[in-house]
Amino acid sequence: MKPVKHIIIPVFLNNLGCPASGRCVFCDQAASGGTPCGPDSTESYLKGFISGLEKENISKNEYSFEIAFYGGTFTALPRGVQESFFEAGRSAVSSAGEGRRGIDGKFEGFRVSTRPDFIDIETLSFLKANAVKTIEIGVESFDDGVLQKAGRGYSAASAAYSCGLVKKSGFKFSLHLMCGLEGQSREVFLRDCASLAAAGPDYARIHPLCVMSGSRLGEIYKAGGFVPRPDSELIEETAYAMAFFELNGIKVIRAGILENDKFRKEVLAGPAFPNLREIAESLIHSTVFDFIRTKFERPSKILVETGGEKILNYLVGYKKENIKKNNDLLLEFKNKILYNNAKDAMPYILISAENNESAYVLTRPDVLKQYINKF
Ligand code: SF4
Repeated sequence: MKPVKHIIIPVFLNNLGCPASGRCVFCDQAASGGTPCGPDSTESYLKGFISGLEKENISKNEYSFEIAFYGGTFTALPRGVQESFFEAGRSAVSSAGEGRRGIDGKFEGFRVSTRPDFIDIETLSFLKANAVKTIEIGVESFDDGVLQKAGRGYSAASAAYSCGLVKKSGFKFSLHLMCGLEGQSREVFLRDCASLAAAGPDYARIHPLCVMSGSRLGEIYKAGGFVPRPDSELIEETAYAMAFFELNGIKVIRAGILENDKFRKEVLAGPAFPNLREIAESLIHSTVFDFIRTKFERPSKILVETGGEKILNYLVGYKKENIKKNNDLLLEFKNKILYNNAKDAMPYILISAENNESAYVLTRPDVLKQYINKF
C-alpha cells in the first residue's frame, strides 16, 4: 500500500554553521529551535524518534519520512561534520530497520536548511550524493537594504542566483520569507513575495517578525532603537503571502515560527500566536462578506453553504470575528458535507438568498484572489 502520511523528523542544530561574524539580528535559536543535537547525539535521538513512529504507525504501513537538519546553516559546516550527520541518520534508519519490515523503504532521504550564501554547484553535488531531497533556504527578504539591516551578509542578487542553482539541480526546495523586518515596508514585502514566486520553489514558509529577548534585535528594541510594526499589519501580510503563494502553486508549509512555551516566554513583540494560520485564513475569508454585501439585497436571508468544516470555520472567523463584524447581515451557514456525501460535487462556497436572487459559487482561488486584490 502507498504511504499516505509524510513525516519530517527534525534534528535541531541550533546555529551550527552560522556565520561566525554574528547571528542574524532577529535570531534566537535557543528559544525558537528544539533540543539541540550534535553529530554524536543525533543517532540515538533519531533511533528513539523512529521507534516511536514504528510503535504508532508501522503496522498500518501508512507513512514515509525524511530526516531534517534544521536551525543552523548546514552547508556551511565542514564537509566531514555534514557527513557525520548523514551517517548518524543512515545508521539510525538501518538499525531501526533490523528485524522489522519495511522501515528503510519508508525513509525518503534528508532535508537540510541553509542560507543562500552557502550554496554552490559543488555543495549541491555533495548533497545529492548524500540522499538530500529537499533544501530549505532562509532567504527572508529579496531587498538589499532589509538584508543588510538584518545582518544577513548576502545580497538579493546572490539569493536569487542560489535559488536558481537549486532549482536547476532538481532538488525540491522551500524558501523562507519574513515580514516586518527593519526597512521591510508593505511595499517591499509585496515585492519580496513576487521575487519568491519567481524563484519557483515547491514550498514556502512565512515568518512574521517576533522580537526575541535573546536576539540582538531584542536588545535594540529594549533600548528603544526599533519600533515593530503592529501585529495586525504583519498578520495581513502573512495572509497575503499565503494567498499569493497558493495561487502561484507554492505550498505554504508554515506560517509563523515553530512556537512552544519556551518561545512564547521569550517574545517581546510580534504575532507569536499559536493559531496564526487560522487567524490569517479568517482574514482571507472575511472578503466573502464584502462579496455578499455587493451582490445581495438586504434584508433578505442569505444561505452560505460550504464544502467542508474547515471552510465553515474560516468563514465564521477566528474567535467568531467575521460573524461579529457582519452581524447586521441575516446569514445562515451550512456545512454541506454534513448533509450531502457527494464531496466532489459540492463547491467551495455556495451563496444563495431566500428571495430567489442569483446564487453564486466561490472557489478557493476566487476567495484568495479577492483577498489579494484588497492590497
Ligand atoms: S537566522 Fe538562520 S542563519 Fe541567521 S543566525 Fe539564525 S539560524 Fe543562523
